Amino acid sequence: MTSTKEAIAPWFKEVLACPICKSDVELSGNVLTCVNGDCRSQFPIVDGIPVMLPQLNRHHEYEKQYFDQEFMRYEKYALENWRISYIKRIFGSLSISSSVTDSYLDIGVGGSGYTVIEAVRRGNKSVGLDVSIEGVKKAQYFARSELGEKSNLCGFAVGLAENLPFKNECFSKLSSIAVLEHVPNDKQAMAEIARVVKPGGEVFLTVPNTYQRIVPIFWLPYYFWDKKIGHLRHYKAEHLIAEFVSHGIITEEIAYSGHMIKLFQTLLSRLSGNFEKNAAKMWWQIESMDSKMSKLAYGLQLHLTMKKCWANHPEQSESVINQKLRV
Ligand SMILES: [Zn+2]
Repeated sequence: MTSTKEAIAPWFKEVLACPICKSDVELSGNVLTCVNGDCRSQFPIVDGIPVMLPQLNRHHEYEKQYFDQEFMRYEKYALENWRISYIKRIFGSLSISSSVTDSYLDIGVGGSGYTVIEAVRRGNKSVGLDVSIEGVKKAQYFARSELGEKSNLCGFAVGLAENLPFKNECFSKLSSIAVLEHVPNDKQAMAEIARVVKPGGEVFLTVPNTYQRIVPIFWLPYYFWDKKIGHLRHYKAEHLIAEFVSHGIITEEIAYSGHMIKLFQTLLSRLSGNFEKNAAKMWWQIESMDSKMSKLAYGLQLHLTMKKCWANHPEQSESVINQKLRV
């Protein structure tokens, strides 16, 4: 039986902060306590996982329940094709490779923990955050079984994107895949992302593309999917970029995925449960055709690769937008 102190690696304890007032937290037994005398909020550690949640609203509760149920079903660690594809996309954009040691945060890590686990395999200290405690428990379990000794390079916490439980400027790489659209106060979440990234640090985001740029055949199924999974909105690249600029984060690359061609991939996967495995070559051919169209704004997902400025220079940022924004 490992004690709580052993379960939380010292470097991980160092990056944790109060999600409410951002002050340092001190560890005592199974509880982290905010050192700020006006706050003194306390957060439990459950199975070695800091649960750093502020007050949740109804939407957060719905999401937490939905994803708890979803992630509880995960039985084994598996890198399906779509996860491998995301790894390539995220790690390529953030230049995460085995030759660099970085600190990486994935917001919305989910129950597989694959982003964090694969980043640790490449030698990066990595942190996964999710609102679902069941998800984070699974992710931690998979990390331990997949990584062995190396699992002390990863840390998992339960928290909200709007109230990140981390100190300022402690990550050099950050990804958040399909999270902002779930978050009630997405502007606060964007400000939080900007706060925890180091100057010069890189950010990779994926969100659902605006309906205006989605082929109408997808509208109805996407609308029902939005309702079921708790999406609060879709995003237009221009708006998202402008919001991040106000926090000193500039966009370096805009890409789109999920073009019409993906419809065939989805249909084939539905028709044959093992299409991904049995016809892997064709699956990847479709994936590669889709990624060749990444500059075409008419895809289901929007991806932004961004960088935090060393200082907040809005003029510089605007020139970057004008230069890059050809949507
Ligand atoms: Zn506090």
